Amino acid sequence: MTWDVAKTAIDYILDNEQDFQEDSVIWEFIGGEPFLEIDLIDRICDYIKLELYKREHRWFNNYKLAFTTNGLNYQTDKVQNFIEKNKSHIHVTITIDGTKQKHNINRVYKQSNKGSYDDVVKNIPLWLAQFPNATTKVTISSEDIPYIAESVLHIYELGIQTIHINCVFENVFKINDDILFEEQLMQLADTIIDNNLYKNTSCSFFDETIGKPLDPIKRNNNWCGAGRMLSIDAAGNFYPCTRFAQYSLRDKKAWIIGNIHDGIDKNKLRPFLTLDRCTQSTQECIDCEVASGCAWCQGENYDATDTPTIYQRSTAICKMHKARVRANNYYWNKLFRKLELEGRREEFERNKKNVKTEIC
Ligand code: SF4
Repeated sequence: MTWDVAKTAIDYILDNEQDFQEDSVIWEFIGGEPFLEIDLIDRICDYIKLELYKREHRWFNNYKLAFTTNGLNYQTDKVQNFIEKNKSHIHVTITIDGTKQKHNINRVYKQSNKGSYDDVVKNIPLWLAQFPNATTKVTISSEDIPYIAESVLHIYELGIQTIHINCVFENVFKINDDILFEEQLMQLADTIIDNNLYKNTSCSFFDETIGKPLDPIKRNNNWCGAGRMLSIDAAGNFYPCTRFAQYSLRDKKAWIIGNIHDGIDKNKLRPFLTLDRCTQSTQECIDCEVASGCAWCQGENYDATDTPTIYQRSTAICKMHKARVRANNYYWNKLFRKLELEGRREEFERNKKNVKTEIC
């Protein structure tokens, strides 16, 4: 993205208050790798802060600068200066996928094909010193399944206490992946509970609220925020989410809802604002006994359909969700039995740290 595109985008957002009425805002820089462009990002953030001040904008002290990074440039002077300068408003997530073996399955240098684990993990202590409550995000595909339990435990050992983890939504899972997945989660459950790790850590695979029926009227909200946020690409095009940009799609055309010069085309945005769970789900999903926590990605729904619609939910994740629910029931049954036996159930309920399912 050029400076001119970034500046015009910020001006558009701040000039069009009627379309952005929230009390606060997150300016999120997602890549590629955002810290490769730290000079540009620093200039963009300075401009945002200055404009909010000049306009006496309600976001002036009500904003976050959010980054998801591969962590490779984290220790550089430029990135560290930027973090120091913005420390009261910044949120940084370093992505570490688990053990060295698991991390290096997907995260390799382009030229050498060497895995990046060693170069990322050395920056974790600095990151945790600056953000003690930092969390990480792990995504599971078919080939990652055998490493789930050891990877979650490894991330805990690195000092990261909260892990957001989910299966990908694409249709990649093979026969018996769900069985293997359930075994991994039960193995993880045993280790967490037997070693009392549940007291200080949390892994979003285990969530008391999932695996229950959902009332079609009271619990009918869409899963994600597609269309209720604005994504901007390097050319200045607007999308309901980055998953609708051409580089994120396999088979469908990009869903562009405007650009920094012409603004948002409300007609292209309208289908997103009327989305809810039932209008895009089959009757099987609406009536499903374990529907809560069964997520979807609006971009993948669009990409996977046979017609260009966002109103057809992809259910490639179905058997994985059901396996997760079975393991989740095992986890909570085992944990509550242990707590009852030890007479500590009430204490646990008061202090529990439960990560809400967060998926994207
Ligand atoms: S995808 Fe499967 S598990 Fe999820 S709500 Fe539909 S039927 Fe239930």
